[in-house]
Amino acid sequence: MSTSSSLASAMQRGLRKLAGGLGQKPSAYRLFDLQLVHKIELSPSLCRLVFTGPDVNSMQCSGPDQRVKLFFPAADGSLPALPHDSHWNDARKQLPEAARPPMRTYTIRALRRAQAQVDIDFVMHGVNGPASAWATHARRGDRLQMLAPNLAYPKDPGGYEWNPPAGVDRVLLVGDETALPAIAGILETLAANKQPPQVQAFVEVPLQADCLDLECPRDTHLHWLPRDVLGSDHGAAMLHAVEHLAELPQAQATGKARPLEEIDIEQRRPWELAQARRGDFYAWVAGESATVMQIRRHLVNDRQLDRACLTLMGYWRAGRSFE
Ligand SMILES: Cc1cc2nc3c(=O)[nH]c(=O)nc-3n(C[C@H](O)[C@H](O)[C@H](O)COP(=O)(O)OP(=O)(O)OC[C@H]3O[C@@H](n4cnc5c(N)ncnc54)[C@H](O)[C@@H]3O)c2cc1C
Repeated sequence: MSTSSSLASAMQRGLRKLAGGLGQKPSAYRLFDLQLVHKIELSPSLCRLVFTGPDVNSMQCSGPDQRVKLFFPAADGSLPALPHDSHWNDARKQLPEAARPPMRTYTIRALRRAQAQVDIDFVMHGVNGPASAWATHARRGDRLQMLAPNLAYPKDPGGYEWNPPAGVDRVLLVGDETALPAIAGILETLAANKQPPQVQAFVEVPLQADCLDLECPRDTHLHWLPRDVLGSDHGAAMLHAVEHLAELPQAQATGKARPLEEIDIEQRRPWELAQARRGDFYAWVAGESATVMQIRRHLVNDRQLDRACLTLMGYWRAGRSFE
């Protein structure tokens, strides 16, 4: 065990003991009060916001695509101040709409417990949504709240979907700019493997200047798909890449394969997770919901791939706001 992981387990034991002493069972997720310490422009469309807070050293990040909920200032300007206990959601619902902090989902890009810092990479898509608008105007010292995994929780808190089968040989990663933080984390995780699988990654971004320098495992083909250079609309390059550029396995599904259920993407996010514990191939796809649905149809209907090796997630829906 490395020094940092043994330190983390010792902290986890300490936190559990403390919660036990107070007669409480630690919850999987808990609320953290955060303050912005740095704002780093990674590229024209992506900004890294580094937060700190009194309890960040008891936060947990269990996977490279670990999702968290962020709570932003409400329409009436009040700062998010939800209670730290398990009743935060009831308390939020009871607030009048104008005072209710908007909630959005983001990915932990990095957690440095020893420095009590957590990084979130925001896509700066304009000031048309509470999250992107907040990130655009945010300054050092600005505050928000985050619902994130609790280090004191003794089991797996969940909230991450990167879950390739043991010993997988080939991995396909496909995403747009909202999935870039997760894909960057996945590539870093794979780069730390002694025997990483072969990786094909297709990442669609708004501009050529958004193509970042990512740490990759040795056998990686990383393809950037900048829409300004390709002259393509959102999602078109991702779909084209999966249809024409990705090296996919031969048809795997049997005649007994379940037909694809329709998903109403105006009502909910498409969210289908790979189930296979063993297998040669694994695909992780995330981005705008309509594009993810088109990719799903292509992989399952046209290419007859086994759904058990596909993780497909709608991260946002064009023209709609989802909490
Ligand atoms: C598991 C998960 C992890 C995610 N991780 C990240 C992350 O690390 N970084 C990140 O930036 N996003 C991430 N997202 C996506 C993010 O939650 C959405 O983009 C969210 O809609 C942003 O909220 P908002 O308040 O800015 O806009 P909203 O109020 O939700 O939407 C306002 C308008 O903006 C549009 N819109 C929303 N997002 C975009 C976009 N990216 N580009 C163009 N138009 C958009 C909507 O369609 C709508 O018309 C993640 C989503 C999920 C489900």
